[in-house]
Amino acid sequence: MSDKVYDVPAAWAHKAYVDDAKYKAMYEASVKDPNAFWAEHGKRIDWFHPFTKVKNTSYDPGHVSIKWFEDGITNVAYNCVDRHLAERGDQVAIIWEGDDPSESKKITYRELSAEVNKFANVLRNRGVEKGDRVTIYLPMIPEAAYAMLACARLGAVHSVVFGGFSPDSLSGRVADCASKCIITADEGLRGGRKVPLKANVDAAINLLPPDSVDHVVVVRRTGAAVDMTPGRDVYYDEAAALVTDECPAEHMNAEDPLFILYTSGSTGKPKGVLHTTGGYLVYASMTHQYVFDYHPGEIYWCTADVGWVTGHSYILYGPLANGATTLMFEGVPNYPSVSRFWEVIDKHQVNIFYTAPTAIRSLMQAGEEPVKKTSRSSLRLLGSVGEPINPEAWEWYHRVVGDNRCPIVDTWWQTETGGILITPLPGAIKLKPGSATLPFFGVVPEVVDAEGKVLSGACEGNLVIADSWPGQMRTVYGDHERFEQTYFSTYPGKYFTGDGCRRDADGYYWITGRVDDVINVSGHRMGTAEVESALVAHPKVSEAAVVGFPHDIKGQGIYAYVTLMAGEEPTEALRKELVAWVRKEIGPIASPDLIQFAPGLPKTRSGKIMRRILRKIAEDQFESLGDTSTLADPGVVDDLISNRQNKR
Ligand code: ATP
Ligand code: MG
Repeated sequence: MSDKVYDVPAAWAHKAYVDDAKYKAMYEASVKDPNAFWAEHGKRIDWFHPFTKVKNTSYDPGHVSIKWFEDGITNVAYNCVDRHLAERGDQVAIIWEGDDPSESKKITYRELSAEVNKFANVLRNRGVEKGDRVTIYLPMIPEAAYAMLACARLGAVHSVVFGGFSPDSLSGRVADCASKCIITADEGLRGGRKVPLKANVDAAINLLPPDSVDHVVVVRRTGAAVDMTPGRDVYYDEAAALVTDECPAEHMNAEDPLFILYTSGSTGKPKGVLHTTGGYLVYASMTHQYVFDYHPGEIYWCTADVGWVTGHSYILYGPLANGATTLMFEGVPNYPSVSRFWEVIDKHQVNIFYTAPTAIRSLMQAGEEPVKKTSRSSLRLLGSVGEPINPEAWEWYHRVVGDNRCPIVDTWWQTETGGILITPLPGAIKLKPGSATLPFFGVVPEVVDAEGKVLSGACEGNLVIADSWPGQMRTVYGDHERFEQTYFSTYPGKYFTGDGCRRDADGYYWITGRVDDVINVSGHRMGTAEVESALVAHPKVSEAAVVGFPHDIKGQGIYAYVTLMAGEEPTEALRKELVAWVRKEIGPIASPDLIQFAPGLPKTRSGKIMRRILRKIAEDQFESLGDTSTLADPGVVDDLISNRQNKR
């Protein structure tokens, strides 16, 4: 924990929307009378019929129900596009920067409107209606934004699946929400490499019962020849040539679903996190404006992929609802060189830059020169999201990237929260490297101990949120019981975040990481269970347990303990085969870094694997294994220690 404090720069205190006094007053008002506060801020979006009710939420065990602005009628695409046309039709809405630095494109709000309307008509011609689920499996190209907004325009519920997922993961996500339509591209392009998206879609559909998917819309990205199934598959450009650029925006209730996004699934199969229309958009747009102190005309860049919630809320919906210029990047930080981020900032004169600690850590390895040779003089604010940022990386980001000039907003939030919950506001809150600092308006964090006792003052424990905010997820798609079980049963009456945290004497929050077993590899989160089940699916594997271990570049690496079927030989060739197997099953992001063959795994008497012991071994902390007396067979631990794999 760093004890350094960075004051709010003088220029910021005057120019930002919110200064220290205003933050305190607004925060106070927001938690004292949420109805009055959100009645006012709910008006920041346009409503076809205004709401008369504001907050109607209950965290009561067995009756968890979350509704905001429930009688209001609006449309998210209307708010992100149409309402800006009169005032800023010719302003750039999206700057697209391709994987190859020679490719970029600017799309004005007027052009965006035409593209979204056309895309909506293409979908409508394929029978997509209000309430239908549409799976989007696209690279970071403008069509991803058009497709998402087209769904919102029609009232269809999109489920974006990250393009790095395998056919297996994709098919599970298509099946879970029974989507009949998939939007994809011939191929994706990342870091100069091609990703066979359409072939993956075909493979995914082959894993589903016949006739599960009626339509596949294929955007041409690389122009590669791909298999097209007649009657089912259509090229987007051919379909779009036949439609007009006018499609009415569906009237949506504030509580109608907007999208489903599957979390990485630490506790079994991935959860379909469901977000709805009104509260989500109010919260995403308000946080985008205040946290990034976004002022009209500024160029804003969030480097996330639209396959993650950060891409939903802070590339697309928040910025576009605010009439911002948002940059969308197809590539990766180190292609063609490790200066790419900084070159893009200079090329497009980016003012606000939002990325993840894993990217910062990997770029740090290359030293200062690739950064310092660029200007970056347009930058005024930096942001971080996805995992705790270690103070060393924070300082480097501040000093080297931001030239000691730009505040850093370390934003803590989750897929489930829809938007940022704990964060500095750059004109109001002093920064401490490694701390997400203080709650956003309307957010009531509490720290509880294992028994649920609310702790006060400086303390450490589990992070819960005591009351609802408009951007909160409404349910797990198709499984409300799982929603209640996962988030509201551990500490009845409160939303359990699953994260541990520390609160210091100034009331600042320091997130210490998740309480359960999710690993975060290069900013990509995955449940250990997902990797384990892939390993166990291999015919020679009988059992597997996966934990993270500290990895200099990736943040966390994947350490897999594998028990083989009786009679199978633990060879180097098999080790390689298993790594390739997981790559194929889940995707390259899930490749184990280290595999240890283990004749037995430490288990409780009830048969549960004790991951905390495996984690300690992977971390080289043999002396702090803790109590092993409850193990069914304590002897396995010695074997695990003596055969531990060396870190690369
Ligand atoms: P799953 O819920 O399936 O296990 P996940 O929690 O890894 O997946 P996300 O919703 O994308 O998926 O990530 C949210 C989590 O990321 C938070 O709960 C927290 O652990 C971590 N996180 C995000 N931002 C920050 C931050 N600024 N500081 C510390 N941790 C963060
Ligand atoms: Mg989570």
